[in-house]
Amino acid sequence: MARPRHVARGVESFPARTPTLLPATHTNSYALGGREVILVEPATPYEDERREWLAWARAFPAQGRRAVAIVLTHHHPDHVGGAEVFARELDLPIWAHQATAARLPELRVDRMLTDGEELVLEGDVPSRWRVLHTPGHAVGHVCLHEPATGTAVVGDMVASVGTILIAPGEGDMIEYLEQLDRLAALGVDVALPAHGEPIAASAGPSPTELFRYYIAHRLKREAKVVSALAAIGPEGALLSALVPAVYADTPVMAWPIAALSLEAHLLKLEREGRARRRGEGWAAP
Ligand SMILES: [Zn+2]
Repeated sequence: MARPRHVARGVESFPARTPTLLPATHTNSYALGGREVILVEPATPYEDERREWLAWARAFPAQGRRAVAIVLTHHHPDHVGGAEVFARELDLPIWAHQATAARLPELRVDRMLTDGEELVLEGDVPSRWRVLHTPGHAVGHVCLHEPATGTAVVGDMVASVGTILIAPGEGDMIEYLEQLDRLAALGVDVALPAHGEPIAASAGPSPTELFRYYIAHRLKREAKVVSALAAIGPEGALLSALVPAVYADTPVMAWPIAALSLEAHLLKLEREGRARRRGEGWAAP
């Protein structure tokens, strides 16, 4: 794999090996900006990969570029595994949403990013990245959007390799679907996910189509949850008994993860008055 790769105007990608959810094996770091550079996703915890990553970032000055900050999209280990080391080695501040900082008490976050603020980077053409707070997969998740180039860094909102897990606790299916809808409304030309290839109409579905597909896919799954509850009747059923009905199309190996997704769906349906808890299990309302 050739690293770094130019993936959009003023954006380089540097995929590095991480302990992430298979079939994904890497997390993409991104360098945004022509002269001043923001490094997004300081992900890799592995010594050999960190060395290469640092060599990439240390080559910037010779190219007339200067890193100004490291940005975390969210707190998951496959996104922050190198944050502390990279910040120290490169003497850079770490920027993240407050809810991300709160989940990483051992890490020093120097600046709290808020929804709607603009990160302006000097360059021949200055770049202006707008922060979008997009909870759902993780409470403090942020995306970065540059309207002028139609580019968005989308973290774990979608992936071109693997699936996005919405797990109860830190995940929230209602918020996730709302934020996917918000991303779709941006109409970007290129979406840069943390896992897999850039998403662009020239290479497959457009980002907008993909965001809409993700919403449709979750709603289709939700419909299966609703009909499974209806079929089971007023006695209800345990989560473990619902998984085979809702995920019949999914390999049994993936059912433990599917159970987490199912619970996230049920919590959404509960809040909407379309499912209720019944003892240890779930039933139709
Ligand atoms: Zn994640």
